[in-house]
Amino acid sequence: MGKTEMIVSKLGFGSIPIQRVSEDKAVAVVRRCLELGISFIDTANAYTTSEERIGKAISGRRDGLVLATKSTARTREEMERHLKLSLKRLGVEFIDLYQFHGVNDFKTLDVVLDPNGPMAVVEQAKRAGVVKHIGITSHSMDTAKEAIKSDRFETIMFSFNFIACEPADELLPLAREHDVGFIAMKPLAGGMLDNVTIAFKYLFQFPDVVPIPGIEKIPEIEESIQVLKGPWQMTEAEKGEMKRLRKELGTQFCRRCDYCQPCPEEISISIVMFSSSLFKRLPPERIFSGMVAEALEKAANCTECGECEERCPYHLPIREMISEQVKRYQEEKRKYQGQGALGNHV
Ligand code: SF4
Ligand code: SF4
Repeated sequence: MGKTEMIVSKLGFGSIPIQRVSEDKAVAVVRRCLELGISFIDTANAYTTSEERIGKAISGRRDGLVLATKSTARTREEMERHLKLSLKRLGVEFIDLYQFHGVNDFKTLDVVLDPNGPMAVVEQAKRAGVVKHIGITSHSMDTAKEAIKSDRFETIMFSFNFIACEPADELLPLAREHDVGFIAMKPLAGGMLDNVTIAFKYLFQFPDVVPIPGIEKIPEIEESIQVLKGPWQMTEAEKGEMKRLRKELGTQFCRRCDYCQPCPEEISISIVMFSSSLFKRLPPERIFSGMVAEALEKAANCTECGECEERCPYHLPIREMISEQVKRYQEEKRKYQGQGALGNHV
C-alpha cells in the first residue's frame, strides 16, 4: 500500500453491509474472512454498529491484521472524539490506517488540512503511535488528485470498477507517482455488478490496487476468494460480457462526484441516485430516517429543469433516474409503514 509499506491481502473487507445483519452473523462473516486470509479490514465511524462488531470479531486476532477506519470529522474537537470512539469500539490500542472520510471538494480538503484542524489531531495521534498511517477517501476526481499531490496522505480510497473505470487513466498513475496506496471502493459498483468474476478479474490486473467489496454473507466472500485463486486472465466470453455490461450499465452508474450540483431545489442528487444500492446495503431503519429519507423526500420536488444533466460529465439521465428512485422509495416506504415499523421517523 504505497508509502505505508503495509502488505495486505489482495482483497480487503468492506464493512458497510454488516450493519444490516444480526451481531452474531456480522461477527461470523468477519471471522470467516480472517480464516480465508483477508488481512485488510475497512470500516468507518459513520457505519453505526460496524466498528463495534469488527472489534468483537477480531478480539484476540489482531496480529497481522491491517485495520482501517475513517471519520467525517471536520473540526479538531470532533476528530478527537471520533478517534477515541473508534479505538474503543474496535477494542484496539492503535489503528493502522486512519482516513478522512468523504472529502469531496477543495473547500473540505482545506478544512481537513488546516494547521489547527482535524489533520493536526491525526498527525499528533500518529506521532503517539495510536495511528500508524493517514489516508483519505473521496468521490471527486479533482479533489482526489489534489489530495494526492499534497503529499499529506499515504493512501487514497476511490470508487473503481470496470464501469467507473476512469481512475485507471490518471488517478492511479498519479497515486503511483506519489507512492500513495490505492484502495478501490465499490468494486461491484455498489451492488450493481452481479458478475463477481468479471468485476474482480478486471481489478486484479492492477497489482497495487486493493478492492474492498462490502461483504454481508459468508458465501459472498467465498465466491470472491475463488476468483482470487485464479486464473485472473479474462476469457474471451468474459471480455464480451464485460463489454455488454459496460454498455448496459455504463449510462446508469452515478460516480457520486457531485459535479451536477448545485441543484436549485437543493436535492442531494448523488444520494438519491445511489439509493438503490443503499437499499441493498443498509438496514431499513437507516433508509427511512436521516439523510437518505430526507434526500428522497426532497427529490419529489424535482422540477425537471435539467440543469444537473448539463453538468454531469457522465451524461446520466438524472431526471429520469431521480423519478425512478423516488417511485421506488415511496413503494418501499408504504411497505415498511405497512409493517408498522416506521413510527414517527418520517
Ligand atoms: S432537474 Fe431536478 S435535480 Fe436536476 S437540477 Fe433541476 S431540480 Fe435539481
Ligand atoms: S449524477 Fe453525474 S455529476 Fe451528479 S454525482 Fe452522479 S455522476 Fe456525478
